[in-house]
Amino acid sequence: MEVNNIIKILKNPSQDDINLISKAYGFAKETHEGQKRFSGEPYFSHPFETAKTLARLQLDSATVAAGLLHDVYEDCLVTGARTPINDKILKKEFGEDVAFLVSGVSKLGTLKYKGEKRMIENLRKMFLAMAKDIRVVLIKLADRLHNMKTLEYVSGEKQKRIAVETLEIYAPLANRLGMGEIKGQLEDLAFPFVCPEKYKKVKEIIKNNYEKKEKELLKIKYKLSEELKKNGLENVKMDSRIKHLYSLFKKLQRPSVNMNIKEVYDLIALRVIAGTVEDCYKILGIIHKMWKPLPAKIKDYIAVPKPNGYQSLHTTVFADGGKITEIQIRTEKMHQEAEYGIAAHWAYEEAGKPKKGARVHSRLSWINQLIEWQKEISKSKDFLKTLKIDFFKDRVFCFTPKGEVIDLPEGATAVDFAYAVHTDIGNNAVSALVNNKFVPLNYALKNGDLVEIQTQKNKKPSAELLRHAKTSLAKKQIKSSLKKTGFFH
Ligand code: MN
Repeated sequence: MEVNNIIKILKNPSQDDINLISKAYGFAKETHEGQKRFSGEPYFSHPFETAKTLARLQLDSATVAAGLLHDVYEDCLVTGARTPINDKILKKEFGEDVAFLVSGVSKLGTLKYKGEKRMIENLRKMFLAMAKDIRVVLIKLADRLHNMKTLEYVSGEKQKRIAVETLEIYAPLANRLGMGEIKGQLEDLAFPFVCPEKYKKVKEIIKNNYEKKEKELLKIKYKLSEELKKNGLENVKMDSRIKHLYSLFKKLQRPSVNMNIKEVYDLIALRVIAGTVEDCYKILGIIHKMWKPLPAKIKDYIAVPKPNGYQSLHTTVFADGGKITEIQIRTEKMHQEAEYGIAAHWAYEEAGKPKKGARVHSRLSWINQLIEWQKEISKSKDFLKTLKIDFFKDRVFCFTPKGEVIDLPEGATAVDFAYAVHTDIGNNAVSALVNNKFVPLNYALKNGDLVEIQTQKNKKPSAELLRHAKTSLAKKQIKSSLKKTGFFH
């Protein structure tokens, strides 16, 4: 676990990048000193692996540093302990950007899966919190990826919950962001914990078919590359990729396939990486001249990309001896984007620019995509209504110390927050901590604030409190409490 293992993954890091990452490395290592994972490994292995994934995505040094630091703050939130690590210290040590990312991830860290309805609610809110900066969700995905890799050490009940949440939230999210590689990994890691029997079955199917198919492909590859050379296409790379397990499972379940592996033509697909878009179409023509395509299977995702930005030409041909094979043709840039999605976009956009303050507005307009995705999750009309931007604009989303999201109208105060959490907390409120700083109870909350209400037993609300409340819920509760104490008649 040397810092150099992270730095050497990055293409052309500057001295500033190296310094920032090294500093975060030292800080996180020291903070997690003595802590252990369920696996018995040092806790630091977790943020270390998270940061490595972010480095592989070629994200900026602030994101990689935040990956290293992503749990130093959360630990303090979860235990409720006032350890010396907070926003202020991170800001001082690592700057605004890193501190923002760490606190963003930390606040989302404890969103829990509690049934579908709650999940949709939490998601809606989570996306808004993330909407401020795409990098927050990229760190979250890298974090989840490592947690999934070490899931076997977690106890049974929790194991399944985390795996289901990964299949239902994080993998579709990665998919929506066009991050095919991360999505595939997340699904395959969750699969055995969610349906162990089906997982075994699919593994067996692959085992029985893989070798034969691989041999066929070798011949096809050879023949195609000879033909491409004849046509002057020298700089073409070819490789084959085996279908991800979970994705194969989903395909096998389609009625048209009906668990028959012979109906799956892309168990192993041939991938052709060409220099230019023109070459892609040229290669498609050459392939179709060599082997007959299945007409319904020709897909031009270059001219018409998938909604998540995926681009490629797909064709399925009767290769020699009638062997049906899928071939995917794309440029190197399309390939990067298919594997790393929004992260690749981000890296491209940043290249050559000063790497700072990147609250990136991606060409993918990813917020719109997230909202698209939410539509797929819930067909509920009410839910769609809540997605309207106007509604969002008028709300603030705050977090309890346990990471629950409290949704309040703009202008709401700490008093409103307290009553939104629980009537007793509102009635007994004496003071409020916002982002670990004391504020008066009439403090107007801002989006993303972390709010902790301090209470005192038997404390009763005063008439003054009523003036501080903005929501009808809080006002109603205060009035009813004042009535009881004889204040109101
Ligand atoms: Mn973590």
